[in-house]
Amino acid sequence: RPGPEESGVAVIGLGRFGWHVSQSLTALGYDVLAVDENPRIVQRWSDQLSRVVQADATDEKALRQLGLTDFGRVVVAIGASVEASVLVVLALAELGVPEIWARATSEKHAKILDAVGADHVVFPEAATGERVAHLIVSKMLDFI
Ligand code: ATP
Repeated sequence: RPGPEESGVAVIGLGRFGWHVSQSLTALGYDVLAVDENPRIVQRWSDQLSRVVQADATDEKALRQLGLTDFGRVVVAIGASVEASVLVVLALAELGVPEIWARATSEKHAKILDAVGADHVVFPEAATGERVAHLIVSKMLDFI
């Protein structure tokens, strides 16, 4: 379990990926602040997560008001809009967030995220695809 000083994580973007990240961190004892610009998405998860707020995370002022500067770690889970994901990472880097995790959908997207200040870039679809391929191979090895 995390110590009190490291237990806060903010997750931006509550699509399927962001929701699973938020839910897993909550189950692991982390204090999660989930942010999405879409009020319907915020409404949908408000019963399941302890803190869900509506805000446009490309807006530095909004991020400051939400207290994002106090978070040691922020996960940018936006995938479909490269522009939004890049602008959010840039805003977080400019606010001085120490550890920024960001989701990339392509190698070029990853390069831009890295250039604007992401500390860790992840490729959820690629990672899951590889895992499934390995699971299939290991199951096939069971029969040899
Ligand atoms: P997934 O594959 O995880 O289901 P998706 O591709 O369907 O995601 P995305 O476009 O990656 O959807 O967006 C994920 C969430 O991020 C959406 O709920 C969207 O409202 C939110 N989002 C997009 N832009 C911003 C922003 N600027 N600020 C806050 N939330 C945002």
